Amino acid sequence: MKRLKEELIKISAMGRASNCSVNYYAQLDPKMGVTRPEGSSANKALRDFTVERMQAAGLLVRVDCVGNIIGRKDGSSKHDKAIMIGSHLDSVMNGGHLDGALGVFAGIEVLRRMGDEGFHHQRPIEVVAFTGEEGSAFVVGAMLGSAVLSGKMSPDEALSIRNMGGQTLDEVLTDMGYKGDCTYCVDHVDAFLELHIEQGPILDNEDIPVGIVEHITGITWLKSIITGFGNHAGTTPMHLRQDALVAAAAAIRFLNRRAHEMAKSVNSSVVGTTGHLNVYPNNINVIPGMVELGFDIRAASLESMQMLTTEAVTYLNGLGHENGIDVQVASPDVQGPVKLSEDIIGTIEASAVQAGVKFRRMASGAVHDAQNMASVARTGMIFVPSVKGVSHSPMEWTEVPWEELETDKSGPLSQTEDISGDFWPP
Ligand SMILES: [Zn+2]
Repeated sequence: MKRLKEELIKISAMGRASNCSVNYYAQLDPKMGVTRPEGSSANKALRDFTVERMQAAGLLVRVDCVGNIIGRKDGSSKHDKAIMIGSHLDSVMNGGHLDGALGVFAGIEVLRRMGDEGFHHQRPIEVVAFTGEEGSAFVVGAMLGSAVLSGKMSPDEALSIRNMGGQTLDEVLTDMGYKGDCTYCVDHVDAFLELHIEQGPILDNEDIPVGIVEHITGITWLKSIITGFGNHAGTTPMHLRQDALVAAAAAIRFLNRRAHEMAKSVNSSVVGTTGHLNVYPNNINVIPGMVELGFDIRAASLESMQMLTTEAVTYLNGLGHENGIDVQVASPDVQGPVKLSEDIIGTIEASAVQAGVKFRRMASGAVHDAQNMASVARTGMIFVPSVKGVSHSPMEWTEVPWEELETDKSGPLSQTEDISGDFWPP
């Protein structure tokens, strides 16, 4: 684990505003986060470092046509389907260094550890670093690399997406030297595992080091436009107003109250947020004539998510009957929850019991590459605690009990077998 610790410290400086590495929590600076969108020099530096570490661990490294990096170690049965482990290397603007990268480097460490302990695996094991999970450079497409690898998006579609500077993903990858020439054939993957920071407060609050993800929660975005009548704030008596913001405020409170109640009584994963609000004309001395409102509703169960969405739509439509307010509710944009493999959940649970590590089952409230991979392979996720539940922030941190883990026996694996076979069919 010393190797992994050194790697994580090294990558903590890549893309950090201070250029300094971070060894422990107290060194974090709320103004000095990590910025590694696809195409940045920090993203290229981390990609280069990842390839170097994969090769040093004896993996055969390939890059596919959308820049996914895949390192492979064959097992005794070379033609079996692979176990794939990994996550992403890109970050949000001013985020933390472990979001994504921890899962990639943990995958490399798994293979090194197997080598140290003389464990001979039968299946091929592949470590993957997906392109563009965060959508921080190519805002219209999050989880791009895993979307292509899992067949949800065509390579051409992904490569033609433009970043805010007008460059296509194709151009950005070519500039970084990470535009591979092959398409990965996902039929070769039997199972996918992703280790990731929790990005929420549950594990840290309960002092539990391992979360086993059962579901990645579904997301519904519900947009509406509330129209009243903009008028003078001083001359319009209270009983003659059509105030769109007052109506919106009632809807915001309704969503918050019902999400609280449903989380207590229906499904603990239910959350409801008003994250988007545009007020027109947004002048201090004018009664708001129009409000655009955006609700984000999530739950691990589709029924619960639908229930809260239906209630919110009914409430919004009901506002139209009061005080001459008009409400237009767009049809909800729904991404259903994803259930992860019970087989893999059981295996992780049994391993945690065997290792004497405390764990709990939980839902993931954030989306991850595992969500795409779950449609093509048995998929599991392990969460590790985020200190104070903070993520996408310079203060993002996970404590690792390194001292208890200093049990390395030898250096990295060496690759002895020829693995230049045809595992990537055209
Ligand atoms: Zn992530």
